Amino acid sequence: MYRTPRTKTQIKVLGDKISIEINDLYLLKEDADGIYKDETIYLRSYYKDRKEYLRVMRHEVIHAICDSLGIQLDHHTEETLAHTISKTLTYDM
Ligand SMILES: [Zn+2]
Repeated sequence: MYRTPRTKTQIKVLGDKISIEINDLYLLKEDADGIYKDETIYLRSYYKDRKEYLRVMRHEVIHAICDSLGIQLDHHTEETLAHTISKTLTYDM
């Protein structure tokens, strides 16, 4: 198990400050590993391993970038983009 870092409460995405919140209850209710909503990334308190945590972070950051750029993709296209990039990029965060 990998414990989500408690010290990272914010990330800058294209100059915008995005909050990072750990909220297991919200994610459980939504049946999601991570959620980006209203300039906040919601994460679970634990992930399978560090790799999975980074994948989820990258995925949600892509949603934040789309929001920041004002890209209006349909839901399916944005999910495909976030899914693909999150699995392709391997830099650390
Ligand atoms: Zn997504």
